[in-house]
Amino acid sequence: MMQLKLLTFKGGVHPPHNKDATEKLPLKKAEVPETVVIPLQQHIGAPCEPVVGVGDQVKLGQKIGEPKGFVSAPVHSSVSGKVVAIEARPHPGGGKILSVVIETDGKDTLDESVKSRGELDQLSAGDIKNIMQEAGLVGMGGATFPAHVKFSPPPDKPIDTVILNGAECEPYLTADHRLMLEKPEDVVFGLKAMMKAVGVEKGYIAIENNKPDALKTMVEAAKGENNIEVVALKTKYPQGAEKQLINACTGREVPSGGLPMDCGVIVNNVGTAAALANAIKTGMPLVERIVTITGSGVKEPQNLIVRIGTRFEDVIAQCGGFTGDIGKVIQGGPMMGIAQYTTEVPVIKGTSGILVLREEELQLSPPMPCIKCSRCVDACPIGLIPTKLEAFSEKGMLQEAEEYKVVDCIECGSCSFVCPAKRPLVERIRLSKAQVMAEKRKAQAEAKAKAEAKAKSEAQIKAEA
Ligand code: SF4
Ligand code: SF4
Repeated sequence: MMQLKLLTFKGGVHPPHNKDATEKLPLKKAEVPETVVIPLQQHIGAPCEPVVGVGDQVKLGQKIGEPKGFVSAPVHSSVSGKVVAIEARPHPGGGKILSVVIETDGKDTLDESVKSRGELDQLSAGDIKNIMQEAGLVGMGGATFPAHVKFSPPPDKPIDTVILNGAECEPYLTADHRLMLEKPEDVVFGLKAMMKAVGVEKGYIAIENNKPDALKTMVEAAKGENNIEVVALKTKYPQGAEKQLINACTGREVPSGGLPMDCGVIVNNVGTAAALANAIKTGMPLVERIVTITGSGVKEPQNLIVRIGTRFEDVIAQCGGFTGDIGKVIQGGPMMGIAQYTTEVPVIKGTSGILVLREEELQLSPPMPCIKCSRCVDACPIGLIPTKLEAFSEKGMLQEAEEYKVVDCIECGSCSFVCPAKRPLVERIRLSKAQVMAEKRKAQAEAKAKAEAKAKSEAQIKAEA
C-alpha cells in the first residue's frame, strides 16, 4: 500500500533551493565528445588495472579496467574508438588518476557483451549481484561505493529494508528529480531487483516534498507494488544523508561509527536503481549518467545525459559556455561538492552536477571569532558540537576530537552554513576526521600485523617442538 507521510530528522538547515533554472528542463542527450578521458578509479576502493593498450580499438560498453580487489568496480568504455593514451589525468575527486584516453569514431559500435540479462523473475539474488558487479555500478549520489559490495553484507548483519534516496536535498541539483519524472519505471524496477538481491520484503522511495510532481509520478509507477512505499520527506538539508534518511523512514538510528547495515538497511540513490534496471534490461554497463549543469556562471543550464569521460569543459560548452568572471567550478552541489582547479576533469560515475558560480557570488569575508551563539550545534543533524570540534582540530587535539565523535561527522556543511562568524567549521572538522580515521587504520593494521607475527611464531615453536 502506498502512503504519503511527511518525515524528517532533528537539526538541519534550509539553504535556498536554487533549482528553478533546471527543474523543469527535460533530460537531453549530450553530444558525444571527440575524446573521452575515463579514470580507472571512479569509486571507493581499489583502482582498476587497464585491460586495453594504446592503439587498441574499443567498443561501447567494453571493459577497459579490471578491478584489483573486491571493493572496487570495473570501468567500461563509454564510446567506440581508439585508445590514444593511458596516463595520469586530472580527476574531479582531486589529484591525477591513471585514465584511458579514447578518440571516438562516432559509430557507437556495441561490445558483444552488451545484451539483455533476462527477465527479473528468472534471475537469482546471486545473478543480480553479479550484474551489479559486472556493470561497474556504484552509488550515483556521489558516494561511489561499489553496489555489489553494499549488497553483500556479512552474515551477522541481516538486511530487511532497502531505501532509495530521491531526496536530492543539495541546492541546485535536479538530476534525480528529472530521472524520477522521466524514467519512473526504471527506478521501481531497479528497487525490485535490489530487494531481490538481498531477499527483503520492504522497500522505500524517499523524496523531499518540494518535488510534488516526482512524488506523484513515483506513486503512480509503484502502484500495485504492495511492498514498496513512496514517502514524502520534509524539505530540509541534509535530508538525503543516509543516517537521516534511515531515521526518517524507519525510525532506526545508525550507531555511532556504524553503517546502515548495522540497523538492517541498505540505502541507494534512485540513479543507481535506474542504472541497475538498464544493466539488467539491456546489458549496458554504467557508461553514462545524468548531470545537472547549472549556476549563474553557465549561459544555458541543463540536465544532460553525459557519457562518462566527457570533460567538464566540453559539457559546459554544450550549455553555451561561461558567463562573466568565474569564481568556482564545483562537482556536485554547493554544500558537499568538490571545487575544481581545472575544467579538464571528466564526468565520472559520481558526478551528479557541475555547478559554476560567478566570482561576485562567493563569500570572501574572513572568519570572525566565535560568538558562542550555538547555531552550529542546533543545525548539526548528527548532534555533534561543531564549535568544539573545530577548536580541537585547530589545536591538533585528536584524542579530544575522537571523544567528541568527529568520525560521525557526515561533512554536510550545515554548521558552516549557519555560522554568523563565517568560521571554516566543516573544513577544519573534515581535516581532523581524516587524521583520526588514519590513526585508527594505522592502529588496526599494527594490531593485525602483531597478531599475525604472534600466530607465526607460535606455529614455528609448535613445528620445532
Ligand atoms: S559537524 Fe559535521 S555533521 Fe555536524 S553540521 Fe558540521 S559538517 Fe554536518
Ligand atoms: S555558529 Fe559559529 S559563532 Fe555560533 S557557536 Fe558555532 S562556531 Fe561559534
